[in-house]
Amino acid sequence: MFSHTDKFLKDFQTIVNIDSSSDHLPGIEQVARFFQKRFSDIGFTAKILFQGDAKVPCLQAVFGPGNGDNPKYDLMFLGHMDTVFPFGEVEKRQFSIQGDKALGPGVCDMKGGLLVVLHVLETLKKEGALDKMSICVAFNGDEETGSKTSKEWIQSVAEKSRRVFVFEPCRPGYKMVSQRKGGGWFQVSVTGKEAHAGADPEKGINAVVELAHQIIAIDALNDSATGTSAQVTVVTGGDKVNIIPNKAVASVDVRIEKLEEKQRVETFFNTLCERRVLPGSKICVQGKIDRPPLEITPQSRALLDIIFLEGKKMGIDVSSIATGGCSDGNFTAALGTPTIDGMGLVGANSHRQDEYVELASIPIMVNLISNVCKALI
Ligand SMILES: [Zn+2]
Repeated sequence: MFSHTDKFLKDFQTIVNIDSSSDHLPGIEQVARFFQKRFSDIGFTAKILFQGDAKVPCLQAVFGPGNGDNPKYDLMFLGHMDTVFPFGEVEKRQFSIQGDKALGPGVCDMKGGLLVVLHVLETLKKEGALDKMSICVAFNGDEETGSKTSKEWIQSVAEKSRRVFVFEPCRPGYKMVSQRKGGGWFQVSVTGKEAHAGADPEKGINAVVELAHQIIAIDALNDSATGTSAQVTVVTGGDKVNIIPNKAVASVDVRIEKLEEKQRVETFFNTLCERRVLPGSKICVQGKIDRPPLEITPQSRALLDIIFLEGKKMGIDVSSIATGGCSDGNFTAALGTPTIDGMGLVGANSHRQDEYVELASIPIMVNLISNVCKALI
């Protein structure tokens, strides 16, 4: 049983006080080195992989029979070391404890979650339970910018894993995340023809008017029954009040709850040019649904039941929720690997200055996840 909150807090202070903005690679590497050392100390094979042309530091730590040529992991523990806060943020607001909360950049999203992983594995090691397990820890360094360089690596580990636990923050009230929407962005550009708005209106083709027709059509994609939303969020067009505009552009944020909606939405956008209303106008669409939804499956449901039961044994009422935001769990779930997210510390206000975690959740989450691992293996 874990009861070393003081040790956890010391580690917490160390890693929160390292600036690790997605664009500050030396800071991300420093965080990775911290974990490499600690995982190595308990027998993991831990290495830092530098992903992509940008050489983004990512940590891979492997334990157990999965270490061989053809690894199969009982569990993948997934998290990210980067934060949304720029270099210099730590100097402005260092890790601190105020009342029953811990504060600081990335405390909730998600340095607390990374430490849950470490302390769970240290606890299991101490208890002798780790030796029966095969585990791969994967911490990437570019989640907040879309995991562009680490996505393939994350997917390749998930393919070799029976289950994935993602340590993004747990929601207040011990609510884990069992569903996340997928989505993508589209840009619709219309080309018309310029003309004097007063003298020669019949010679022009109004790109803004054409786009207006298309915006109404896009808006009709919204369907609360299937959980799909398509929101036109940015519109530009026109330059001077007396000139018919020849260009207009709209940006659209699309979210889907069900994977089959990807086809319907992408087909709609890909055929938009055929549905132009003004003769002579041209419509060009860019974009795709590049993040699949994290859907609940019978396998992830069964996994949740085990987690809820272990919570109950500890006197904690654990439940799960669906959310709109994406995480790397979307990519692992899309491969069919049962994925549960929100297994980090309980906290809120991610990406904001008033981000916090509840100190009381430290021993609870470490013990809960340790017990779940023991129940599974
Ligand atoms: Zn996060």
